[in-house]
Order: sequence, then structure tokens, then C-alpha cells
Amino acid sequence: MRILVPSELVPGERRVAVLPQTVASFTQLGLDVSVQSGAGAHCFASDADYSAAGATVVPEGDLTSALGQADIVASVRPLDPARAAAVGAGTICVSFLSPTIDVATISAIAGAGATALSFDLVPRISRAQSMDALTSQALVTGYRAALVAADRLPTFFPLFMTAAGTIQPAKVLVLGAGVAGLQAIATAKRLGAKVSAYDVRPASADEVKSMGATFITLDLESLEGSGGYAREMTEERAARQRELLAPYIAASDVLITTAALPGRRAPMLVTRDMVEAMRPGSVAVDLASETGGNIEGSVAGEEVWFGQVRVWGGKDVASQMPVHASQLYSMNVRSLLGLVVQDGAVTADVSDEVIAGCAVVLDGDIRNEAARAAVQEG
Ligand code: NAD
Repeated sequence: MRILVPSELVPGERRVAVLPQTVASFTQLGLDVSVQSGAGAHCFASDADYSAAGATVVPEGDLTSALGQADIVASVRPLDPARAAAVGAGTICVSFLSPTIDVATISAIAGAGATALSFDLVPRISRAQSMDALTSQALVTGYRAALVAADRLPTFFPLFMTAAGTIQPAKVLVLGAGVAGLQAIATAKRLGAKVSAYDVRPASADEVKSMGATFITLDLESLEGSGGYAREMTEERAARQRELLAPYIAASDVLITTAALPGRRAPMLVTRDMVEAMRPGSVAVDLASETGGNIEGSVAGEEVWFGQVRVWGGKDVASQMPVHASQLYSMNVRSLLGLVVQDGAVTADVSDEVIAGCAVVLDGDIRNEAARAAVQEG
């Protein structure tokens, strides 16, 4: 049984699905590990490191035949359609994969008679926690968001009581207290800031408070949806939420936004005027920039100024810490494959609810309804 790790093709993607230090955990499953030459370069993992860890290094020129021979292909981003078309029938492709966006890849994997398991769709149940790559990567992005803000703020995060006088701590406001938001809160707290947070799910209040931050309660209905996710706001509620949040934002030195809705455009929580009302020198970090933005006018991958406030739009944020992001991702891959590699064979068994949840394509059959509709629409 062979697992192949191709190098990532998307510009800005610096992670890799398997690191040299995690090769052994795949070998223990009974898998021979092959890695495309150069795949670990952005993580400071050389071909020699992979070879020393027991992996076979595949030169770029041999990749197509290696794809055809692999039982499992593991990547961070979905395979591009040409690579997906080169995998053999029955091969299991494991990666992040959006059922509605990565339509060409899904078609190609189906056309090859292969299987696609997506980390976008692993059920959020306790048994699958070790396979939850959305969580592991959100941890990285939340941590980065707080560091980016601290780095750009012209003032300290912590309280300092010095002989020259007292410096008050920075006030950090986090909107969206899911995995990334909670990690941003934890990191900002560790740096000594005074942190408050808001989320439309009241269930997040206890988690926010347990980190020593203040939970902001607004006089609005909750939007707790199914599976612990938030529901979409009506435009009327969104406008009222913005109105109620405006004074909290104006009083903050740092604003970090992390709000998301599964499979949808991110909600717009903050207008440009609300950002401009912050003190000069304040910093806003929008982790949702790539999916539409929580802050009106934020630009993914760029820093823009709204008046005298700097707005940092996140792009490929997990790739800004590629080594640990890859290490965690690699362990998610290994855990998911623990369900797939059984008794010396590779099988995606959809009687297991985790596999059933994340199998977008099964042996050429597009099982995911949203993906099927998207492929039919072309
Ligand atoms: P997410 O990335 O989908 O969204 C981030 C946060 O934005 C969420 O907390 C959401 O409530 C919030 N949000 C959405 N719209 C908002 C708005 N208009 N204003 C303010 N905030 C808004 O969330 P996530 O981090 O993927 O977590 C989603 C859920 O899954 C949470 O309930 C989390 O506790 C749960 N979870 C469970 C497990 C597990 O059991 N294995 C693992 C991870 C997360």
C-alpha cells in the first residue's frame, strides 16, 4: 500500500501533507510513503530528510506514473484537475476540498473512478477530533491573528508599571469565538491584553469567559444553528448588530474578526466607518478576507489604511506558520487514514459516519449532494 504526497501547486501554499517527522506514523499503518521531490521545501524539509525518514522521493518527471500507482494521495489543497485525472481507479485522495468550489477536481476524481475524502466535511464529533483539520488550521490562524496585531500596533499589549510611569494594556476585541477566535483570545491574553469577544452563539460565552476574556452580550436573538454552527443573519439583524457593536469597536485598539458560516460567504460585521472611528494607530485583522471579509473593504493578502487605522486582510494565514501547521495537518491525515487502512487493505467504508460525512466521491460516484449539483451545473 502506497501513499503519495505531491508538492502543492497553489501559489502561497507553503504547507505539506506529510513531514519527515510524521513519516514513521504512516509507515506504522503499513503504508509505503512517497513524496514528490521538493514537496517539503517551504517547511525546511529536504528530500534527504524524507529519505532518512524512510520515504521514497519521486522526481517531478515520474509524478504522473506515481499518481497512477498510489493507493492514497494526500495533499493540503485539492489536486489540480490534471493530477486528479491521473490517479488510478480506487485511489483515495485526501485533502481540503470544497464540494461547491472545487468542481473540476471533483469531476476529474469521479472520472478516474477514484475516491475523494474532504477535510472540509469531517463531522465535528468527538471521535473525529483528531481528524479535524479545520480545527487544527484554525488554531494556527487564530494565533497568527493576535501576533500580527501585536506586531503592527504602535503600543504595547501588556500593562507595564515602570519607574517612568504606567502603560495601560491594549484593548483587543475579537468577533467570532469559534476555534480561531478562541485561539486569538488566548494568544492576546498571554501577551497581556485586555480582551473582549462577541459571537452570535451564546454557547461560546462560557468558553470566552474561561479564557479570562469578557463576553459581550447584545440585545439580539441568538443565531445558534445545527451542529454548533452559526446561522446566517437577516440584513436587518446585521445592521442592528453593527449598530450595537460600534461603540465596542471604537473603544478597542485591536479588532480581530474570525466570523464564518459553513459553505457560505463570511458575514459583513464591520463597516469602514466603524473602523475609522477607532483611535489613530489601531489595527484591524480580518481572518475572513478570503471568503468575502467580515470588515467592509478588507483585502485578502494586503494591508490597507482606513483613515489612520491599519486593516490587515488574511490570506493563506496557516501557511505563514507552515511547519507546525503541516505537522498538525499531517497528524489529521494520519488519523483519518486510520479509518481507511484496515487489515492490510485501503477501503473507504461509508458505514462509518466519519467517512460517510467526508466522502465527496466514492469509487467514481459523486455522493455529496451539493457537489453533484455543482458538477451538473458545470
Ligand atoms: P466557524 O469558523 O464556522 O465560525 C467562526 C465563528 O464565527 C463561530 O463561532 C460562529 O458562531 C461565529 N459567527 C458566525 N456568524 C457570526 C456573526 N454574524 N457575528 C459574530 N460571530 C459570528 O466556526 P468553527 O471555529 O469552525 O466552530 C464551529 C462550531 O464547531 C463551534 O460550535 C465549535 O465549538 C464547534 N467545534 C466542534 C469540534 C468538535 O466537537 N470536534 C471541533 C471544532 C469546533
